[in-house]
Amino acid sequence: MTLSMPTTLDDLLRRLMKNNLFRDREKLRPDYVPETLPHREVHITQLAQILLPSIVRGARPSNVFIYGYTGTGKTAVTRYVLNWIDSRLNESPESPYRVKTVMINCTNNDTNYRVLRALNEALGIKIPFTGLPVAELYERFKKTLDSRMTIMIVALDEVDSLVKKSGDELLYKLTRINSELQNSKLSLIGITNDLNFRDYLNARVRSSLGEEELVFPPYNADELRDILEHRAKLAFYPGVIEDGVIPLCAHMAAREHGDARRALDLLRVAGEIAEREGASKITIEHVRRASLEIERDKAVELIRTLPFHSKLVLAAVYLLRDKVGGATTGEIYDIYIRLVKALGFEPITQRRVSDIISELDVVGLIQAKLQSRGRYGRTKYVKIRVSERALTEGLKSDELIGGYIFEGGTPGLRRR
Ligand code: ADP
Ligand code: MG
Repeated sequence: MTLSMPTTLDDLLRRLMKNNLFRDREKLRPDYVPETLPHREVHITQLAQILLPSIVRGARPSNVFIYGYTGTGKTAVTRYVLNWIDSRLNESPESPYRVKTVMINCTNNDTNYRVLRALNEALGIKIPFTGLPVAELYERFKKTLDSRMTIMIVALDEVDSLVKKSGDELLYKLTRINSELQNSKLSLIGITNDLNFRDYLNARVRSSLGEEELVFPPYNADELRDILEHRAKLAFYPGVIEDGVIPLCAHMAAREHGDARRALDLLRVAGEIAEREGASKITIEHVRRASLEIERDKAVELIRTLPFHSKLVLAAVYLLRDKVGGATTGEIYDIYIRLVKALGFEPITQRRVSDIISELDVVGLIQAKLQSRGRYGRTKYVKIRVSERALTEGLKSDELIGGYIFEGGTPGLRRR
């Protein structure tokens, strides 16, 4: 099998069509909910045991707070249980109530308006994207819900996004809504990756949202292997994955705090790389390259979303990349000042730049090492920790900074 690049688009298409790796790549996408969730049977049962007994009695289920690192199955498990409730219990003879479930992703819906809009829409009420008072949306939702004799289960996924952007007032209202409902009931499931999220909440919200709590632990390598094997059977044709590929993906993702999403991404991207090359099998080498590609994308995204001055500090470290042993905080500050002035902004203090250097270190974009300089005390030496390609791509996404440094920045700054 040759690994050369295809010469024409036709050639590429021909290779793609001939490629017999993916049976169904959708099965590796993060939003696909598999029919079974290995190693989460206990959590599925726990969540069901919190919700079901109340539902069949026509009572309000306790609110549930679910937390754990990303990729530990929180969204998948919740979706799985809610789907089951929808399909089995809606208008079931076991209960005089109807059951309605809705899952709202608060990363996309991070304002009170948007969440209330989604809640209304779940009950079939169309709401314009903007324009109505939030209080009115709340009233409409409450009235309609109450007229339906319904137990409504509202899962707010990534709920920290809502609270960080818009505060916890809506959560507070929703935990109190039952005292204003005569005929219906509402219970909340709050889901978050942020283990410190509880600190953001007002004590009253914290205790009512956390009537029950479920913690999702990270998967270990063996568990990830089972999960991958299961999904790989659905996604790939038999025999196309070389031995060792799945264990390697599992092992790498286990190191990333047991993240099943990372494991699945590794396998999917490895498959895509193999496919692009027209390879007949997915190999360990493909996984290694997939890992580099994913790391790079992650770094680019991280840089893209940095605040302006943090990007400038990073750009300064980048411009000093040829310094043997790394750049000192003082040197970085000098370049930062020149950049910020050249772009026409007010500089921040050296103290603040020092803090930013520590923050960039924590997220892994740079490496800062304290070194002793004998009687001159200790100095921090700073180096870039991601690939130059990721760094330039990330900085280029900022028109102002990227344009200045990479196209037409002053030569004096580029090469000192
Ligand atoms: P979280 O919400 O905790 O960040 P997700 O539920 O989104 O994690 O899971 C991430 C990915 O891993 C999804 O594609 C999901 O389908 C998959 N996944 C997680 N746990 C399992 C499991 N036990 N079995 C199969 N797939 C899983
Ligand atoms: Mg999730």
